[in-house]
Amino acid sequence: MNNPDTWFDRGLEHIWIPYAQMKTIPMPVPIVATSGTRLKLADGRELVDGVGSWWTSVHGYNHPVLIKAAHDQLDQMPHIMLGGLAHKQAYKLAARLADVTPGDLSRVFFSESGSVGVEVAMKIAVQYARNALGETRTKFVSFMGGYHGDTFATMSVCDPEEGMHTLFAEALAPQHIVELPDSDARLEQIDTLLTQHKDIAAILVEPLIQGASGMRMHTAETLAHLRTLADRHGVLLIFDEIFTGFGRTGELFAAHKAAVTPDIMTLGKGLTGGVTPLAATIASKRVYQAFHDEDPSHALMHGPTFTGHAVGCAVANAGLDLFETEPRLDQARALERAMEEALRPLESHTAVREVRICGAVAAVELKEAFDIDASRQWFIDQGTFIRPLGRAVYLTPAYTISPGDLQTLTCAITDFVDSA
Ligand code: PLP
Repeated sequence: MNNPDTWFDRGLEHIWIPYAQMKTIPMPVPIVATSGTRLKLADGRELVDGVGSWWTSVHGYNHPVLIKAAHDQLDQMPHIMLGGLAHKQAYKLAARLADVTPGDLSRVFFSESGSVGVEVAMKIAVQYARNALGETRTKFVSFMGGYHGDTFATMSVCDPEEGMHTLFAEALAPQHIVELPDSDARLEQIDTLLTQHKDIAAILVEPLIQGASGMRMHTAETLAHLRTLADRHGVLLIFDEIFTGFGRTGELFAAHKAAVTPDIMTLGKGLTGGVTPLAATIASKRVYQAFHDEDPSHALMHGPTFTGHAVGCAVANAGLDLFETEPRLDQARALERAMEEALRPLESHTAVREVRICGAVAAVELKEAFDIDASRQWFIDQGTFIRPLGRAVYLTPAYTISPGDLQTLTCAITDFVDSA
């Protein structure tokens, strides 16, 4: 596009694009419509989407049930503040999330982005220590390869190399960022850390899959160890399920798949199937009890303008309906089997370091680094939208993807690996 009258060229002079050096960024692809697992270009071409709009589109684009829920809510009441007022969709969604999340996770705080949802979880953990134990605990144990958002508190608990957060090192609260306990030695290291540092409020982890660092995976046993450590040392365990929630691992939540229940869980992305922004932070009964008393200073003082946004909550309720009425988890599991069949053989390819597959996530990690920008364009030229992360070429499609579209994606990855 080079016509200054188009929205694209005019806007390009003003928009600040995420995660991009504006001077050298390859041109983004203008999309005029979406449908199912397809992105439609103005010239009529279509790309098969392997990413699902930053992993949100679990039901496919434009699902009629979600779109109708949004329309109906817009017509009736787009939004009202939750301070002093109440609306059905947020209250209904809170009760339903309490029902579908594991254990006694049952008190739901809504925000409008995953980063804020994690901030709220961190704030709850710090205040829990104060309210319940009378202790000042302000630090977190988090993990190399972890990503929890781009706000200041969440940057402090990400892998320090992630998203150029090192630039802000001096501005971030120091945290304990360690390797996941996938060996006895590492387990002991965290045990010692928690013994020595009595200022730790919680352990924070992306359960089973660390998404942003290239779909790195760990076992349920690792999470069970974290649960044991948290209990032994009296700190909370937070599962950041913003990526893994809503069927991505083949179960509704990674906590179900791992059979480990955290004290706090964060949700976002698939919560609304990518139709509107919405995130949720869910606390267990025990955590909530520490806030629930006569003392006003024990209250959670947090309240984003759009907390419990009515359209977002209506769409999220419709999304939960879809998990009940359509075979969404079966589709995610079938996707896992299909991706195993198509991509696992690449494990023996000389260019490949590792193939990782879990539920509706597959990553093929190459041995050698490659030009990320060029690779993204290469995939577009194949009629696909696939955005490698580091050395990992990955797929996180909608669970509703057709066998044909999935084949287009897996063939493109196989061809890419062959050309590497
Ligand atoms: N936590 C995890 C595990 C994520 O994957 C992300 C986003 O990718 C976030 C938090 C931040 O969510 P948001 O981008 O909605 O702020």
